[in-house]
Amino acid sequence: MPWVNKKECVSCRKCVKKCPVDAIDMLKGKALIIDEKCINCGKCIKICPVKAILKDREIVGFKIQSNLKEIKSSLSGYKSKKEKKRLIKSQIRQMRMQQKIFRGTMNELKRIKV
Ligand code: SF4
Ligand code: SF4
Repeated sequence: MPWVNKKECVSCRKCVKKCPVDAIDMLKGKALIIDEKCINCGKCIKICPVKAILKDREIVGFKIQSNLKEIKSSLSGYKSKKEKKRLIKSQIRQMRMQQKIFRGTMNELKRIKV
């Protein structure tokens, strides 16, 4: 599903008007795609004047870079190598934990009978 990078969205509502299934809302002045309604037609991606809407395959790369940027910015607040290494290790630990949580949740979701 497409995804809106809120930082880039300029609130023009062009995507909202273009969406054939009414799957885009505005939340606090930024476009928000409702995954459950979206049929993945890509019309919103094409019409956005500032390229704020990313395709499925672009999202992972974007989020990795965005995470790295944030962590590097935090690192610049530390002076010693030891502190920086500690922060990196702590980030990795937290991400491993998140990974386990997501994996466990996905496995449980697969077992749900509807
Ligand atoms: S991909 Fe198509 S259906 Fe999905 S939000 Fe964009 S315009 Fe709407
Ligand atoms: S078209 Fe782009 S800039 Fe305009 S509201 Fe949609 S996401 Fe935001």
